[in-house]
Amino acid sequence: MADIRKWESKKLGVVIEVDYDKCQGIGQCVAVCPSNVYEIVKGKTTAPNIDECIQCCACQESCPVVAIKHSACQ
Ligand code: SF4
Repeated sequence: MADIRKWESKKLGVVIEVDYDKCQGIGQCVAVCPSNVYEIVKGKTTAPNIDECIQCCACQESCPVVAIKHSACQ
């Protein structure tokens, strides 16, 4: 089973899923996100500020290991 972590914004009605089997904590999502949604914790990305997301899809598009799935960017 893949290790999928989820963050949800009830305010925005969006979900970010990160595949922790793929995530290597490179931090590209941290670098590209204009809303500072992401934070690397213990070598993996987390999305504690998902309520600030502007749904630009840069995180999903730029992840070099395709670990991020954003519900607004399918
Ligand atoms: S969709 Fe855009 S604003 Fe939302 S988490 Fe991804 S990079 Fe950040």
